[in-house]
Amino acid sequence: MHQTTTTERLSVPSFAIIGGGPAGLFTALIIATRVQEQGLSATITIYERNSTLGRKLLLTGAGQCNLTRQASVAHMVEHYGEHGTFLRYALTELSPERTIKLFENLGLPLTVRSDDKVFPSSCKARDVVETLRNACLKRGIILRQECRITEITKNDNLFFLTDDRGASMSATRVVLCTGGCSFPQTGSTGDGYHLAQTLGHPIVPPHPALTGVKLLSTNISSCSGISLDQVALTYTDRNDHKREAHGPLLVTHQGLSGPLILEQSRYFSLKQKISLNWVPHIGKKSSLIEHKILDACTKRGAAQLVTVIHALGLPTKLATWLLQEAGIDGRRKAAEVGRKVIAPLAALLADHELIISLEGSFAQAMVTAGGVELATVNPNTMESHLIKGLFFAGEILDVDGDSGGYNLQAAWSTGYVAAQSMTIS
Ligand SMILES: Cc1cc2nc3c(=O)[nH]c(=O)nc-3n(C[C@H](O)[C@H](O)[C@H](O)COP(=O)(O)OP(=O)(O)OC[C@H]3O[C@@H](n4cnc5c(N)ncnc54)[C@H](O)[C@@H]3O)c2cc1C
Repeated sequence: MHQTTTTERLSVPSFAIIGGGPAGLFTALIIATRVQEQGLSATITIYERNSTLGRKLLLTGAGQCNLTRQASVAHMVEHYGEHGTFLRYALTELSPERTIKLFENLGLPLTVRSDDKVFPSSCKARDVVETLRNACLKRGIILRQECRITEITKNDNLFFLTDDRGASMSATRVVLCTGGCSFPQTGSTGDGYHLAQTLGHPIVPPHPALTGVKLLSTNISSCSGISLDQVALTYTDRNDHKREAHGPLLVTHQGLSGPLILEQSRYFSLKQKISLNWVPHIGKKSSLIEHKILDACTKRGAAQLVTVIHALGLPTKLATWLLQEAGIDGRRKAAEVGRKVIAPLAALLADHELIISLEGSFAQAMVTAGGVELATVNPNTMESHLIKGLFFAGEILDVDGDSGGYNLQAAWSTGYVAAQSMTIS
């Protein structure tokens, strides 16, 4: 057990990294590298509640780990919702390009895919975890697994940590890298929010992000598995802002997913009214869509209405479901239906109001929006403005990225800046 000694209080700096996920492992590694480069000595300890490190990291990229992307800093900053500017300095200090080099220097070959996403060449997330773990061990970092930190206090210049078995440890610097609270089975249960709060840090309420949603207003399960390249979405978000977005949509057994929904989920309220335009390639206005359908009905009078709607670019199952939603029998001959039938159908295709729910989504959300309030953290050092010597890195911060390597890059870059600023000699 690492107990405080008088010598320690006076001389050797001790760094406590809470959380052995990507942010924690990387932060510890950079601290150790810097300390070595400067010929100094320090005690660097990672405290991880699980018996193994990087449990969530192992799941990333469907087990392959999309650890960053080949992209400019300017591009990256655009992909963290409204909080990208907080990361600008960190992403500049440790850009995706430098990250790639750094991992390759650690002995992990990487491959850039045609969509710019970067993966280990082995396609194994385990190799990323092992590379980081081995590099940490090589640099003398102490790994304290099965050690859940439950309390942190500060007295004079020293932090005191308590674990779930009642043992206490001390450190001159603390980095909270406990992640968010999505996929809680991986160990990320939001402990860090509580720890930060007891040290006086305000927390923006955590919210599931990068998640699919359940559909409450209707049952869409007959269309499960259907994907569309372009659907337009409009809604008023949980902060009362009107939002418009478009992109690929996937129908799931219980509701909706795909990039369009995943990337907007950070803004949804737990129960959210949305409107979908299923045919944005035809137009925004229902009058345009109505005109197009009536024209198609005239040209293909002998066809069933469902076939005409399918020809507008909607899969037959979805066309059938949408006709049902509009209360129209899709088997009717196109020649038999007039404006009275088509006008409500066109209105539905242009502006389909649905109610979705995020209830229970933390279990499947890829990230957590919300977290340590950014105004209380220095973006150039990741140090708390409120408590000297306390730092943050990774998903615990109120920053969440889009899908595609942005979240892990945020973990690497914030960890890097925290480590650099802690070890300035
Ligand atoms: C299924 C899935 C796939 C994903 N795929 C990708 C991807 O391909 N690319 C990408 O960029 N992002 C991806 N992400 C997101 C990415 O995994 C996270 O953003 C990233 O893991 C955050 O890193 P972190 O170190 O901040 O937190 P975490 O990875 O959550 O690590 C936090 C660690 O802290 C430990 N801990 C928590 N509380 C305590 C405590 N009190 N004491 C001690 N230890 C504690 C936890 O056990 C955990 O090991 C994915 C997420 C999921 C769920």
